[in-house]
Amino acid sequence: MGNCRSYNKRGEPCQGRIVDMHGLCPAHSGAVDMRAIGRKGGKVTQYGRLAAFVGADDELRAKARERLIELLDSSDPKIAVEAALIVLGADESEAA
Ligand SMILES: [Zn+2]
Repeated sequence: MGNCRSYNKRGEPCQGRIVDMHGLCPAHSGAVDMRAIGRKGGKVTQYGRLAAFVGADDELRAKARERLIELLDSSDPKIAVEAALIVLGADESEAA
């Protein structure tokens, strides 16, 4: 209950959180253009939103994790700290 009724790239049930009346997560409802987010890039807050959208899709999570690791090593302390908070927040959502 509460999970998107669509499927990920591997054909497994998407575990994104439902956000629309059709029972779909942001990525599958079309409310979010993931590629547009990727193109904008560079802003850690966008990665934070992306982390929330990818849910339990392992492939997307792996990519998001790579980006976060890059941001954690940022020379800008604000970006590094925000990336760290995102990582910690992602762990919390997994437990929920
Ligand atoms: Zn979905």
